[in-house]
Amino acid sequence: MQKKLHTHIENGKNALCASLQELVRIPTVNPPGNHYAELVGLLDERCRGLGMKTQIVHVPLDEAQKVVPHADSHPRMNLIARWDVGAEKTVHFNAHYDVVPVSGKWSADAFSAKIDGDWLYGRGSDDMKDAIATLLFAIAALQETGVRPVFNIECSFTCDEETGGELGAGEIVRKGLVQADYVVNCEGATGLNVGIGHNGVLWLEVTVHGKAAHASRPDSGINAFEKTAELVTALQPLKERFAASERAFKTPDGIERHPTINIGGVFEGTSGDKVNTVPAQVIFSIDRRIPPNERLREAENELRMAIDEACQSPSDVKADVKSILRIEPCLVNPTEPFVQAFAQAVRTVRRNPVKFTPTSGFTDLHFFVEEGKMPGVGYGPRGEGAHGINERVSISDLVKTAKIYATFMVEANRDGELSS
Ligand SMILES: [Zn+2]
Repeated sequence: MQKKLHTHIENGKNALCASLQELVRIPTVNPPGNHYAELVGLLDERCRGLGMKTQIVHVPLDEAQKVVPHADSHPRMNLIARWDVGAEKTVHFNAHYDVVPVSGKWSADAFSAKIDGDWLYGRGSDDMKDAIATLLFAIAALQETGVRPVFNIECSFTCDEETGGELGAGEIVRKGLVQADYVVNCEGATGLNVGIGHNGVLWLEVTVHGKAAHASRPDSGINAFEKTAELVTALQPLKERFAASERAFKTPDGIERHPTINIGGVFEGTSGDKVNTVPAQVIFSIDRRIPPNERLREAENELRMAIDEACQSPSDVKADVKSILRIEPCLVNPTEPFVQAFAQAVRTVRRNPVKFTPTSGFTDLHFFVEEGKMPGVGYGPRGEGAHGINERVSISDLVKTAKIYATFMVEANRDGELSS
């Protein structure tokens, strides 16, 4: 049965590529959130073509506008599709369909989905329309070879992961639209790695207030730039604190991961800034990464307290602090039977031992694991250059990943993993 399925998938390589090319050619760039309806419409049609029950869930405008003020011109929506085979358990597969904007000089148009050798190029080819095409291809392969999955399959294709996922995966989890026991988030690890979580992140925007004055009389103003320099200098000891061994998180294969802080990724003054003016205001960002041994709330308290203290000494700095992105870290126990069942499918196809790794970047997995309270893994096809130039995905890895998803769907319960 496995052989028949795998041969069927190998023979369908060109169809798999064509299906991914069609997805890449719809530029669902976020921000601002372009062409969402077009892509969701196409996926809805494909899922119905596979006999799945589908539901396009529109995020109500008033709700969407709290997160995305321009949601009236760029509506937010998610697609849920189910293949119910009457099994006891249901596995949810999630992939986001938004892509980051294109920048830099590409060797070909970023949405032409050009194929060269084993690579398919394009924005979203790796992050993560590859996973959408691969997942639907695996489902089709089961149907075309007459093989039933051992669990009910529920898929969601969600928006806005690249901007935090609140209106995408966050929305469907909170509204109770995920009716599953386990989740596979189709990114976050590739090859012989099985993703078991990710770092959290906190983005703060700090506004330092000064007072404008003529540069010939600097004493009559308050220099917001100099105040910012003092504040940033006073925050430096945080780095030492984070580097301490007791703050480290150890991954299952013994790699240490520490909290990190990056200050000033974005910084700006005001439009009134001039050489001969005392600067009145500075805004800068802080990016704090939160390993799975920490909680978001404690990390935020610690950082806000450090900023408060730094404002008081060495000198009086007036600053406002606003959080602009808050994502909880998450970690799944690799000994979970569900995780082991998925790992077994990876081993079967790749014929090598696997490793369990939490990724340093964040994905939507935490919505399902932390808020939806279900065990989950992250796994998708291998590519390169996500968020960069000449983003591409390996076509042979698309095929392998399709085999892994299909094998998992058919064999996950071989040792009774999903019946416990
Ligand atoms: Zn992604």
